[in-house]
Amino acid sequence: MEAKIIDGNQIASKIKQDLRSEIDKIKAQGISPHLEAVMVGGNQGAKIYAGNQEKACKELGISYKLNELPESTSQKELEDFILQLNKNPKVTGIILQMPVPSHINGREVQMKICPSKDVEGIHPFNIGKLIYGENVLAPCTALAVMEILKSTKVSLKGKEVVIVGHSEIVGKPLVLLLLQSSLESPTPTVCHIATKDLAFHTKRADVLIVAVGKAGLIKGDMLKEGAIVIDVGINRVNNKIVGDVIFDEAVKKASFITPVPGGVGPVTTAMLLKNTIACLAGTAGSGKE
Ligand code: NAP
Repeated sequence: MEAKIIDGNQIASKIKQDLRSEIDKIKAQGISPHLEAVMVGGNQGAKIYAGNQEKACKELGISYKLNELPESTSQKELEDFILQLNKNPKVTGIILQMPVPSHINGREVQMKICPSKDVEGIHPFNIGKLIYGENVLAPCTALAVMEILKSTKVSLKGKEVVIVGHSEIVGKPLVLLLLQSSLESPTPTVCHIATKDLAFHTKRADVLIVAVGKAGLIKGDMLKEGAIVIDVGINRVNNKIVGDVIFDEAVKKASFITPVPGGVGPVTTAMLLKNTIACLAGTAGSGKE
């Protein structure tokens, strides 16, 4: 069988289309969405990511400002900068571009972002709400995977979902999102670096989600026939961007598969915009600054 290739750009367009009318309503109330990103040092990857964010924001009439701080910025200076953005009523969403230089503890800085301006859904307040199924703001990539699964229209009830990778922004929040309905939920398994026999788990997955960052990790013979394969990984190999799954092998075995690029990436950006609007709609958490 040849898999249906999931078009992440198409899913993202639909999400953005739905957001447009919400933004119009919010603007009619005199509220203007304004995102501020903070980048320390001149990391090339972070710059490209910020450029993509700016483009996506502009498309929807969300203003965006990238604050480029010098490499020499201290932890305290960066935290103070974030606290100023928290206090500024014109700033409705804040992003800390990762990675930050090694002398800065990025997680500590992220914790300083006001939860109600946390458009990336990574503040402990918002992560904590996921436990209770109150995911107003959740990590964008995990939300993107859920949107992609929804787009297949395949019921997850009773299915085996295997997630490879347990990072704070993908694997861990995904487990919580997958478990949000006790009647409709699939059964998630999470694999990681110490998993003894990765293929044993991937071969029994009705849905396989891979978020590791290792090209070629998942081969065709590690898949169950007819599996849904979501490849979150982004790797540069010989000047080409590829995922963690060997696409040419997997496409012959899966029922649905996301390509890299053009799969999870564009949907993740769309979910950032959705989180931005959730902050504005007053539906986001308002924990302590
Ligand atoms: P991360 O924080 O480095 O996490 C990688 C995870 O993979 C860790 O949990 C690690 O486990 C696990 N792992 C490493 N080697 C493994 C192996 N051989 N077998 C099984 N598990 C293994 O990375 P991340 O931020 O989640 O990102 C993962 C990938 O997704 C990267 O390529 C990144 O660029 C990409 N990404 C894409 C998007 C998008 O929008 N498309 C968004 C975010 C990330 P241990 O911690 O136990 O070592």
